[in-house]
Amino acid sequence: MAKTRTDGKNPKPEPEPAPPSGYTVLARRYRPQAFGALVGQEATAKALANAIRSNRVGHAYLFTGPRGVGKTSTARLFARALNCENGPTPEPCGACGPCRDITAGEEVDVIEIDAASHTGVDNIRELRANAGYLPARCRFKIYIIDEVHMLSGSSFNALLKTLEEPPAHVKFIFATTEYHKIPATVLSRCQRFDFRAIGAGTIASLLADIVAKEGREAEPAALALVARQAAGSMRDAQSLLDQALAFTTGTLTAQAVHDLLGSGNDTLVAGLASAALSEKPDEVLRLLDTPEGMAVNPAQLLEQMASWWRDMMVVLAAGDSGPELDVTPRYRDTLVASAKGRDLESVMAGLEVLDHAIGRLRNTAHPRLVVELALVRLSRLGNVVGVAQLAQSLAQQRASAPAQAAPVPRPSLAPRPPAPEPPPKKAPAGDRAVPPEPPADATPAAPAGPRPAREVWPEVITALGPMLGGRAAAASLVVRGPAAVALVFPPSARAAFEYLQGSAPRLAKIVETLSQLTGSSHAVNLELEHGPAAATPENPKPEEPRANPMARRLAKERAEEIPLVMRAMEVLKATVVQADEDFAKPPEPGSP
Ligand SMILES: [Zn+2]
Repeated sequence: MAKTRTDGKNPKPEPEPAPPSGYTVLARRYRPQAFGALVGQEATAKALANAIRSNRVGHAYLFTGPRGVGKTSTARLFARALNCENGPTPEPCGACGPCRDITAGEEVDVIEIDAASHTGVDNIRELRANAGYLPARCRFKIYIIDEVHMLSGSSFNALLKTLEEPPAHVKFIFATTEYHKIPATVLSRCQRFDFRAIGAGTIASLLADIVAKEGREAEPAALALVARQAAGSMRDAQSLLDQALAFTTGTLTAQAVHDLLGSGNDTLVAGLASAALSEKPDEVLRLLDTPEGMAVNPAQLLEQMASWWRDMMVVLAAGDSGPELDVTPRYRDTLVASAKGRDLESVMAGLEVLDHAIGRLRNTAHPRLVVELALVRLSRLGNVVGVAQLAQSLAQQRASAPAQAAPVPRPSLAPRPPAPEPPPKKAPAGDRAVPPEPPADATPAAPAGPRPAREVWPEVITALGPMLGGRAAAASLVVRGPAAVALVFPPSARAAFEYLQGSAPRLAKIVETLSQLTGSSHAVNLELEHGPAAATPENPKPEEPRANPMARRLAKERAEEIPLVMRAMEVLKATVVQADEDFAKPPEPGSP
């Protein structure tokens, strides 16, 4: 948990943030005191112990891995092993002066630096100066630098000098969660050890030991919950257990842990899953409205639902041989039964819905609404048709009626009124469900027919002449719909963009030329891509579409005009609910 932080000049550690009663947190009291006790990091522990035993200790070590998995604990343990009066030994005695002082974080020769708060080069210069002096009483002067990736570039350079020619009495142990931020020159001078996230089962059994040593009792399900919540971090698990034990008297129950976390109990989660899977949105809403449903933390609940869906995916994809399921043993059979008979597609679609909702939760003022929306959506997924299935069904339709549809639908064949004005024209809304006239008797790639805009674009540029064509050539032509294109200028071609944007006749000339050469009228939109220096108040156009309902609506309308989508709407008797803004961007003529 809390760590002592000192630098060379001020070796007295800050006091651990302990409660006023003098209580020491579990994570500190149960810090591993021997390599054999390093739970979850057995390979690293063995390698370090062997290095000491065979007298092959390097001068710089790098411990990498997620937070709370034992990097700093191992660093201290290693320091004790090297400096124990009976050592160096893989089994430090724990009783001698150095052993006790290192454990307490009070040893002057073991200097812990938190790089997050000592990023400056002066700190490292000071370290270098101090490293030259012999240790006060220990065998080695050991620098433990935590979060070492936070050091500045110049600090790393300063550190590198010491790493290149370290005094014989100095050892470095670096710990980091982000080793890729460490310069290669430093990496290459360290022995690296990767610490892994610890499995929930391993954590739970360690927690059971701690509970027993504390003279308390806990339901296995309660410890399993704590372990799962900790997501691989022993330190998180221990502090959560600390809270949970303080939160209850007597036996620690699973319900108490749920109350502490704000998570839903198994009955609620299983009930919601079952209601959603049997397509009963009313039941979903009723359960959310019960006292248990009201008390639950939205983020926790979505995570729990996602975990249920993930388990179903595992059951469907891998069966019994798959990875461990998260579900509690009591509901395992319910879960397996709920997965059986379902198709993987719709379970994965459910996971997508939940994943999306979890993402949205971070930026919403209405978390409750996000939860309701997600769960109601889950209960309507029975109708999901996979894209592959959709494509197959369309292909079958085509095969059975070869004369019906063109094998290669061309966007320009879609019937549409001319739209000469720049913004993509608004198609008549209302009678969407019935596409006007399917492109039934159209001949594919008829030479006499209109030509795609992309194909004629080079000719358009030539026809426009050097003044206008030269400017237009700076843009790339992006097809936005069957009769709408955009000229997208990179930020570097801002001048050309402004030249065209500033004059209606110039734009009209482009529209006219393009329409002549394609044989059908086209709307042309000018767009400037956003670059570092391109953002100006008068030209917010390219950025705008992101969260713009108008742009979304246009994207939907464009999507509805794509022949394949039109066919899909017809075949499935479906409507387009929503289209991503870039959905219809590259409808290459000819791609299915
Ligand atoms: Zn000792």
